[in-house]
Amino acid sequence: MLVADYQGFLLEWYAKNGRDLPWRRTRNPWWILLSEIMLQQTQVARIEQRWPEFIERFPTPQTCAEAPVAELIGMWSGLGFNRRAVNLHRCAVDITTRFGGDVPSDLDDLLSLPGIGPYTARAIRVFAFELDDAVLDTNVARILARTQGRTLKRLEAQNLADDAVPAGDGWRWNQAVLDLGASICTSKRPLCEVCPIAVRCRWRGNDAVVDPAKGSAGVSTPQSTFEGSDRQGRGRLVAALKDGPVDETDTPTVMGWEGDVERAERVAATLVVDGLAVYLEGRYELP
Ligand code: SF4
Repeated sequence: MLVADYQGFLLEWYAKNGRDLPWRRTRNPWWILLSEIMLQQTQVARIEQRWPEFIERFPTPQTCAEAPVAELIGMWSGLGFNRRAVNLHRCAVDITTRFGGDVPSDLDDLLSLPGIGPYTARAIRVFAFELDDAVLDTNVARILARTQGRTLKRLEAQNLADDAVPAGDGWRWNQAVLDLGASICTSKRPLCEVCPIAVRCRWRGNDAVVDPAKGSAGVSTPQSTFEGSDRQGRGRLVAALKDGPVDETDTPTVMGWEGDVERAERVAATLVVDGLAVYLEGRYELP
């Protein structure tokens, strides 16, 4: 269990080994929100490169709300899961119209924003407002299950994570736990021999015992293959739309499913539902 008696070990380790990430140098709630939406399904290294251009172009929720959705979709190139670009724009509009242009700090207010789930809402509270919540992502859930030596249900994991936050030190604590999960308590081959909390870990990489993180709440399972997936077809059509409208008769070819009109129609319709495309007079185009 992540408890007070080894909080000090982890914080000491973090002081020497914590990652210097650009969004850790700000407390601007909108910039933090932007980074968290970008980080939802994309690797840290890529967001490190791309986050600066987003905060430069959209320094405030208002600037983002006023931009055409198509511009955000265009800027999102290479980040994957384009729906997040639409969510980001919808967030900006909501923050501007419902919250006077200020990112809220209240948990329920944050959860009411498009594309903001329990992890992202708490991450904004902790990393922008320095509140003492605990974030629970796949890294944190993995550490909790392993230190407990058993699989955990989601509420149980969240409660354990909450209980471990040192009062008044939520920002530093959560960064430390995330970094431990990213660099030491990794999914495959955790580095238990150099882990600062190994002394309080019940599993400690014991090959004779099934990894408790497997099947534990919040621990992600590997993504299905991208090649040949609906997601690949969606990505191809969005990429084509950035160059201009696409006639619906061309969508099977554009999406890589020559001759499979039914699949192309079905998947293209999901883009319209997600706000990534509009359908007008037999053509698809960016909103
Ligand atoms: S001892 Fe190993 S399994 Fe336990 S928390 Fe540390 S790295 Fe993870």
